[in-house]
Amino acid sequence: MGGRFLSIGECMVELSQAGRGLLRKGFAGDTFNTAWYARACMQPSWNVDYFTALGDDAMSEEMIAFFEDAGIGTGFIRRIRGKAPGLYMISLKDGERSFSYWRDNSAAKLLAADPDRLRDAIESSDVVYFSGITLAILPREDADTLLAETRRAKAAGKFVVFDPNIRPRLWSSYDVMHTTISEGARSSSLVMPSFDDEASHFGDDSIEATIRRYRALGAPNVLIKNGADGATLNFAGQESFVPAEKVENVVDTTSAGDSFNGSFLSKYLETKDAVASAHFAAKIAARVIGEHGALVAKDKLGL
Ligand code: ADP
Repeated sequence: MGGRFLSIGECMVELSQAGRGLLRKGFAGDTFNTAWYARACMQPSWNVDYFTALGDDAMSEEMIAFFEDAGIGTGFIRRIRGKAPGLYMISLKDGERSFSYWRDNSAAKLLAADPDRLRDAIESSDVVYFSGITLAILPREDADTLLAETRRAKAAGKFVVFDPNIRPRLWSSYDVMHTTISEGARSSSLVMPSFDDEASHFGDDSIEATIRRYRALGAPNVLIKNGADGATLNFAGQESFVPAEKVENVVDTTSAGDSFNGSFLSKYLETKDAVASAHFAAKIAARVIGEHGALVAKDKLGL
């Protein structure tokens, strides 16, 4: 079996400290990270495509070349004259990381402003992946456009996957955040939240409460990630728990959830066995947090 996996969102330029005042350039962003791990783990019969908007500057060109080198399709990407990608910088002080963002004017904010292109990309795909960050960066009316398309895709029988990835700072208010994330979940076949985020921002007092809330919205399948405490799955009412792998030396937890999502989906789409897929994803996520950076190379994933 094969098909097309389409991930929708924003990839940014990442600048990190390289010592002696030097900065290292990379590319990352939640939905792109997930596409990266999906590509690393999926059979060649699957296409993995990224949907975003980029500009016509040198950074946009480099980013596209980077996607293609990783085997990720770029054919649906919207290009906008005069625009550039967003950027963030990671600073390190006494071992603690902090992030500065320059993304308010990024090309990706316009990714849903060409509805025909968005629809074409989704109609050409079998699996559609997006996140709360994808929705948060869009103008209100464009978030509604994207939600209309994901609802349409779900109704047409496509597998729509949503990670709420709650980032309050990206939203204009808690109200808008709650409503829009709930709409994202409603339009999905599978919701993949992190329990920490849901407890902090929706006030859920247990994993069960998070599962109930998303199932009540109409998501038939929910997979809750809970860091070192493992993952709880409810697929069509059937509940299971899958422990995390033991990691002796946690180097960098960036992308733990994104790598879990991408690797889970790669197995699930082939086997439809959610529990076995979650065991596989826990192994991949454990490898990822044992290495530096958001994007760990395929040869270090133990595949
Ligand atoms: P997010 O990065 O979205 O907050 P989590 O922290 O829940 O996601 O992590 C996602 C997955 O990564 C977990 O379900 C688990 O499999 C793995 N993981 C995360 N932290 C650890 C850890 N300290 N030890 C082992 N596995 C971990």
